[in-house]
Amino acid sequence: MEIKKIKNLKVEINYYEPIYTIGIASDRLGVSVHTLRQYETEGLILSHKTKTGRRIYSEMELDKVRCIKKMIQEQGLNFEGIRQLMSLIPCWKIRSCCDNDYEECKSYTSRKSPCWSTKEKCKHPYPDCRDCEVYRGLISCDDLKRFIYKL
Ligand code: SF4
Repeated sequence: MEIKKIKNLKVEINYYEPIYTIGIASDRLGVSVHTLRQYETEGLILSHKTKTGRRIYSEMELDKVRCIKKMIQEQGLNFEGIRQLMSLIPCWKIRSCCDNDYEECKSYTSRKSPCWSTKEKCKHPYPDCRDCEVYRGLISCDDLKRFIYKL
């Protein structure tokens, strides 16, 4: 009886809120902990870090990992290719940077890595890129096409 009650319990989860430890995220995604760390080292995803340095992931990062897995397994892309694709996200449009601003911005000129994984970041960075619409906007593999189509 008790179990049934728990099963029917609806819990609302904030999509962007980091709640999953790396172990739970790896179980839910069916990928190894090493893979999750590697995606982050390669600049493809970000994680929230606790004060003690533990990585925590939100539902958003889980969806991003699913998308990256698909690009690797179904489309044959490697990390370099995915990074280059992500670097094409038109951050200056999404953030509505003014003309003179964005042409001097490292995020605009870089074609090798997404802006959130570069050391310099953009000219007007959020304290945490996880809160930025540029990082948040690329969840599914179709989002990139959508971004470019909108230009
Ligand atoms: S805040 Fe971060 S994710 Fe957003 S445009 Fe700047 S570098 Fe990119």
